[in-house]
Amino acid sequence: MESVASNLRAIRREIEAACLKAGRDPGSVRLVAVSKTKQASLVREAFDAGQIVFGESYVQEFLQKHDDPLLDGLPLQWHFVGHLQSNKIRMIIGKVALIHGIDKISTAEELSRIAVRENFHAEYLLEVNTSGEASKYGMHPGEVLPSFMALHRLPNITLRGLMTIASPEPESARQEFRALRKLLGELKTISPEPDSLTELSMGMSGDFEEAIAEGATMIRVGTAIFGWR
Ligand SMILES: *Cc1c(COP(=O)(O)O)cnc(C)c1O
Repeated sequence: MESVASNLRAIRREIEAACLKAGRDPGSVRLVAVSKTKQASLVREAFDAGQIVFGESYVQEFLQKHDDPLLDGLPLQWHFVGHLQSNKIRMIIGKVALIHGIDKISTAEELSRIAVRENFHAEYLLEVNTSGEASKYGMHPGEVLPSFMALHRLPNITLRGLMTIASPEPESARQEFRALRKLLGELKTISPEPDSLTELSMGMSGDFEEAIAEGATMIRVGTAIFGWR
């Protein structure tokens, strides 16, 4: 397998090419390197190759990596991309720059409660189940607009946009990405602060080019950087 550094170079080239094709500025897409199940030494390799933003999915594993001596003092930015249970929020708040996977008003309420209590401000994305697959987390697309004002009112947390995990078939994936972009546009029309709704977290190793074509501002790539899990 290729080194993390050469994988990263290849992906950055592919991001650029996808942006060019879509008429977008390559600087408008952030690469989140998903390092779940991978050792801190590989995170270090990616950092040495210029990668700053990392995504983790499991709370215990994230906390261990966050405090790993190999990564001590590095200006890493951690994103939590997994499904976050209410009872784990308190363990990660203040340690992550963005939480991608909130999919219920009740979880957002708990995030807000803890943020107020601990005197933090948290930013998050709402996960939407655009594929309708029963196995996937995420709010039903039809619930997003009706839920928005309740979310918007919660103190100490800010909704920054939407996140989805698409179905494996590229054609459906592309339509799901498009649906997510449309939904973000609709949210902006009802939000008192549309300028804070900037992010579309969509696209992974197998489908990030389609996601970029449909407006992704963050792609979450694991396997293509770090190898198979
Ligand atoms: C694991 C994971 C990824 C990365 O997937 P790859 O196919 O390995 O690129 C992206 N997003 C989420 C939410 C994940 O859990």
